[in-house]
Amino acid sequence: WLARDAASVWHPFTQHSVWLSDEPTVVERAEGAWLYDTDGRRYLDGVSSLWVTTFGHGEPAINDAIREQLGRLDHATFLGSTHPVAIELAEELLSVAPRGDRRLSKVFYAGDGSSAVEAAIKMAYQHSVQSGRARPLFVRLTEAYHGDTLGAVSVGGIDLFHATYKPLLLKTLAAPSPAVYDRASVSAADAAAEAIRALDAIMAEHGDDVSAIIVEPMVQAAAGILTYDASYLKAARELADRHGALLICDEVATGVGRTGRMWASEHAGIVPDLLITAKGLTGGYLPLSAVLATDDVYASFLGAPAEARTFFHGHTYTANPLCAAAALANLRLMRERDLLGHVSALGERFGELLAPLAARPGVTNVRRLGVMAAVEVAALGERTGFRVCQAAKKRGVWLRPLGDAIVIMPPLALSMDEAEILVGALDEALSEVIG
Ligand code: PMP
Repeated sequence: WLARDAASVWHPFTQHSVWLSDEPTVVERAEGAWLYDTDGRRYLDGVSSLWVTTFGHGEPAINDAIREQLGRLDHATFLGSTHPVAIELAEELLSVAPRGDRRLSKVFYAGDGSSAVEAAIKMAYQHSVQSGRARPLFVRLTEAYHGDTLGAVSVGGIDLFHATYKPLLLKTLAAPSPAVYDRASVSAADAAAEAIRALDAIMAEHGDDVSAIIVEPMVQAAAGILTYDASYLKAARELADRHGALLICDEVATGVGRTGRMWASEHAGIVPDLLITAKGLTGGYLPLSAVLATDDVYASFLGAPAEARTFFHGHTYTANPLCAAAALANLRLMRERDLLGHVSALGERFGELLAPLAARPGVTNVRRLGVMAAVEVAALGERTGFRVCQAAKKRGVWLRPLGDAIVIMPPLALSMDEAEILVGALDEALSEVIG
């Protein structure tokens, strides 16, 4: 398999990478939180197959929902048609959307996180045009990651991923991340206050030209699970409103229960104008994303002159029924099994288990919100984080580094025993690599 893979498959992040080179593991099957390779080894899936699995692999209720849907309708274009499962899913999503001073009332379907970000960017810009003033700028955060398509890269802020494409990008203004300071042991609240002052200054100077401020609420995931204070989100909400811009919360990584709330925005008690969800939406089974929009945003499209009101964005597989069926089953199961309650308890357990690791020499920081955590190690020689993950893999636990931050994002339904296995292997791996 490996020889055939090398001969015919392009793996962008590994084959060419200086920071994460590895030979792929040939995964043959999976069950619960475990992956099995073709040599019969098994691995605890500590990254939930890139931050997506909620109930684990092969959950019978989700498998059945996909099978049943396959028997009814595999695909029908969303251009000029609709179907029951997409309607039911939209209703379900809106019923669990954050509530507050505005109402998210429309679901726009897309295919993955990046394409939903792309849609939100175009929506925000077109909304500004419909509202009487074209606003060509976006405010993004340093350290942000919103995906790989060019609009999403434009609002990203991680040079490793984004620098190459700079000549191709949209016009944005970079606001300092509220999270980076807390690595330098400034309190989270002080770090947020400083970042709020910077955002305030940017909006005071350019606010009239800004379509939207886009943030990953509470945690900048791909930068290494950088958590930040809720006061920043509240201020971003207020500043967007003051200057007539939209607030986009990209909940691709943080949403669908990952942080212990259905949406990370809820930790700050805010409602964005556009909320983006993907990853865990289908429970990790199939690709689907959505942008939830407020009454106001939607109304600005309906109220526009006929020639300007079309939103030109829609893909071949938009709202695919199999994906929608998986997502609907996942959301219903989350409610039936009180998954959010489990995530809170599991998060606390990870907190207890990771606390001793924070005291180890060579560990510089441990960060966590819900079941979204990172253990950051000091750079000791080349690719320390990667070597720690390799050592954990030898012990049957699959983790992924982001630089020297080792990310822990297992399936949300992980058992307490599995949490112990995961942290135990990481502890041993740290001993092996760092001592
Ligand atoms: N936004 C955020 C916050 C993400 O973490 C990611 C993926 N890691 C994306 C967008 C892009 O999603 P996708 O990989 O599904 O395109």
